[in-house]
Amino acid sequence: MKFIAGNWKMNGSRSLLDDMVKDLEAVDTENKIILCVPFTMLGKTSDKIAFGAQDVSAQAKGAFTGEISAGMLADANAKYVIIGHSERRQYHGETNNIVRNKATQALANGLIPIICVGETMEEKQAGKTMAVIESGVRESVPSDVNTDIIIAYEPRWAIGAGLTPTDVEIADAHALIAKTLEDMGLAGTPVLYGASVKGSNAADIMSIPNVDGVLVGGASLKSDDFIPIITSVK
Ligand code: PEP
Repeated sequence: MKFIAGNWKMNGSRSLLDDMVKDLEAVDTENKIILCVPFTMLGKTSDKIAFGAQDVSAQAKGAFTGEISAGMLADANAKYVIIGHSERRQYHGETNNIVRNKATQALANGLIPIICVGETMEEKQAGKTMAVIESGVRESVPSDVNTDIIIAYEPRWAIGAGLTPTDVEIADAHALIAKTLEDMGLAGTPVLYGASVKGSNAADIMSIPNVDGVLVGGASLKSDDFIPIITSVK
């Protein structure tokens, strides 16, 4: 079983989601399908698909206008929440520290955080990829985790760019993340790969050791693009 998570970013509509859910419910698969949609599209339930959000407040409740709490996400049938996506880190200044606080809120409310880590092109070119990944995991994951979390390795330079690292680069990153999680007492935590996954590369990427699934942006918006990713692996 692999995790196949879609990140719709700020795209889609409730009617598009209705259509997508119908299409996905007809797919014969053992894989775990997760759709992380904009807040306004939450509220749905499905026997086959789990729903998630793309961000959550680091605060529990109160005078934080415009924020959405983890409790509200759970109340809207979300089971997962992406935290620390590259676009949140880039456009909203989210640091590992903020990501950890958000993940703490998610866990306290029974949500499974999908915590994203990954290097920028500048960091890659400076030879800092492994250091950024390791500190991303160590600093973004709350210290007292005793339930499920998911890590997504998303090389930031490759997201939405049609670029992917080599298989060896993905393997090295995932091995480091698996080892770091083991050191933290979190062996067995699923680690997803994300950035420019499509039907034609999904099976190859998911055959790399320590890749437990994929986080898919652009190609999760159309059934014709997303379903081949889901069915590319058993
Ligand atoms: C993402 O936004 O998490 C992502 C992986 O995007 P894309 O698949 O479009 O590169």
